[in-house]
Amino acid sequence: MADEKELRELCEALENLRWTVEACCRAGGVQEWAASPSARRAKAVAAPRASAERISEDGGRKTEGPPASAKRHPSPTPQPSVPDVRLPSSDTRHPASATRHPTPDLRPPSSATRHPTPVLRLPSSDARLAEIRAALGECSRCRLHAGRTHLVFGEGSANSGLVFVGEGPGFDEDKQGRPFIGRAGKLLDRMIRAIGLQRADTYICNVVKCRPPNNRTPQEEEMAACLPFLFQQLEALEPKVICALGACASQALLGSSKPMWQVRAKIHLWRGIPLICTYHPAYLLRNPAQKAAAWQDLKEVLKLLG
Ligand code: SF4
Repeated sequence: MADEKELRELCEALENLRWTVEACCRAGGVQEWAASPSARRAKAVAAPRASAERISEDGGRKTEGPPASAKRHPSPTPQPSVPDVRLPSSDTRHPASATRHPTPDLRPPSSATRHPTPVLRLPSSDARLAEIRAALGECSRCRLHAGRTHLVFGEGSANSGLVFVGEGPGFDEDKQGRPFIGRAGKLLDRMIRAIGLQRADTYICNVVKCRPPNNRTPQEEEMAACLPFLFQQLEALEPKVICALGACASQALLGSSKPMWQVRAKIHLWRGIPLICTYHPAYLLRNPAQKAAAWQDLKEVLKLLG
């Protein structure tokens, strides 16, 4: 009897629990769970049947989902056909570009057109000397112009490599407009021949180009006015050796006031050009004993000439 009573109480408890669950489901709107198991089974069978009916109505054109076998072994998803995206040729892509931007010819130009050899002909020494002479003109830059007959610019070979520089024109030079043509000039000619050259092989000029009165030594301002032209001449000639004749020329080129005995028998440089200082021929005419010393100086000049 006790077991029967317990069983009845258990059934009542289960019935209460079922009512409680149904009440909760109704309150939450999930009646499905409140339906009886038979109702849920009926609904589960009805759903695939409805799908089959819709398939039939559409003539099989549409499917709501793959069949079970298809889901188990899905066939490869058909890929959309890849459009042909080959780039058009440059001609067809930009048909007008050929005319807008004609293809440049990148071939290197021939050597003749690539580097046309520039012709940089420097004026010859003769031409430059002519320019200097033209610039000098009928010079009146110092007082010596007043007493001159001729301006004595200089003469000789522009390519000899040896330039003699004296002090200034004397009487004969002023008359003829040529340097070293008097007695001193004759001695200079002999000195030049002594070293195996001819006068015409050398270039001869002076510190001042106009004769100082009574053959006096040129004054400082006279030398300052005329020296730029001498320097231009030397730069145009570009000799191998410069030979200064006398103290005036030596001091002018060395820029010093040292006497001859201190500057001779040495090799100086004038703007990089070897410079030998020796006695003026006019001095040697008055002091023949110094000719031997002058000869030593000339031998040094010869050595420098090579
Ligand atoms: S000595 Fe020279 S600077 Fe003087 S006037 Fe003659 S050329 Fe000119």
